[in-house]
Amino acid sequence: MSIPFYDLKQVNARYADELKAAAARVIDSGWYVLGEEVAAFEREFAAYCGARHAIGVGNGLDALALILRAYRELGMLKDGDEVLVPANTFIATFLAVSQSGLVPVPVEPDPASFNLDPARTEAAIGPRTRAIVAVHLYGQLADMASLSALARQHGLLLIEDAAQAHGAVQDGRKAGTLGDAAAFSFFPTKNLGALGDGGAVTTADDALARQVTALRNYGSETKYQHRFQGVNSRLDELQAALLRVKLAHLDEEIARRRAVARRYRQEIGHPAIGLPAVPREEGHVWHLFVVRCARRDDLQRHLQAGGIHTQVHYPVPTHRQPAYAALQELSLPLTERLHAEVLSLPLSPALDDTAVGQVIAACQAFGADA
Ligand SMILES: *Cc1c(COP(=O)(O)O)cnc(C)c1O
Repeated sequence: MSIPFYDLKQVNARYADELKAAAARVIDSGWYVLGEEVAAFEREFAAYCGARHAIGVGNGLDALALILRAYRELGMLKDGDEVLVPANTFIATFLAVSQSGLVPVPVEPDPASFNLDPARTEAAIGPRTRAIVAVHLYGQLADMASLSALARQHGLLLIEDAAQAHGAVQDGRKAGTLGDAAAFSFFPTKNLGALGDGGAVTTADDALARQVTALRNYGSETKYQHRFQGVNSRLDELQAALLRVKLAHLDEEIARRRAVARRYRQEIGHPAIGLPAVPREEGHVWHLFVVRCARRDDLQRHLQAGGIHTQVHYPVPTHRQPAYAALQELSLPLTERLHAEVLSLPLSPALDDTAVGQVIAACQAFGADA
């Protein structure tokens, strides 16, 4: 049996009737942008996160960039200010900072959790540092208690990149409520995935929420009155209606992800395959199950030969991408090593026990065919 990395069709097929009914409701309504579905989804997603505000936007990158632009409009950030970001993240985290006229400063991760290391973050604070973007990588929350203390002490904004962490929880608080503002992505393969692009900003800050709400819609609060030079980045009614269906199933999907991850961690016991260390296990939502292996490419080929599809998140660190030529000279050995060693195993709420057993057996057999 061939095991896909993530079978999106299978994931959404389980809700096909509900999704089709939601789509029909929008089609029949004759209202497709910024209407009742978006308003309802914003209320429901805010309630789910425990956040005061949720604002639907076009995608996760825009969610992050709109937070930063809103802080600029509010006079809290300006051209050339530095923003600390994890060196080992998807490039969107960096792009949001650069697009907003700010300077991303990469920080090496805690090699156990793959998330920002508070000590290294503190060491990276300089005279121009104004904000930290903490990414909850692979679905595990960053150490937000330490990062919040650090941000308070140095007068920095603390922003969550929660694109991989919908529903992740720490000390009874969910992703989206652990910093000054948070950005979510609803890209189809995220834990809460639309059937197209989508994103949201959450925050407890009324002024920031108002600013983001205006910026996403041409900088306008009243039709044809433009207080700011905004953008067009709106969650559309169709995606909002589909996301309301998916949101109602998110907790059961997270439970299934956790069950799969538990079996991988209990049953993969191969000396060459490093299992993820999870200092914050209880709240982890397992967007990805990422192992480390010095012979990563061999392991990937071995699994592929057994019909098991894996991926690498991410193969080339941002500071080694042509898009960031100015960062090429940086030496970030931990990050570079992680990128050479990480491999993401199949993980989906639709993965059944037989498939999980097959992945485990194939991992255990690694080396036997080498
Ligand atoms: C997916 C992702 C984003 C960007 O989300 P899009 O909706 O694709 O723009 C940002 N940050 C991280 C960590 C992501 O995984």
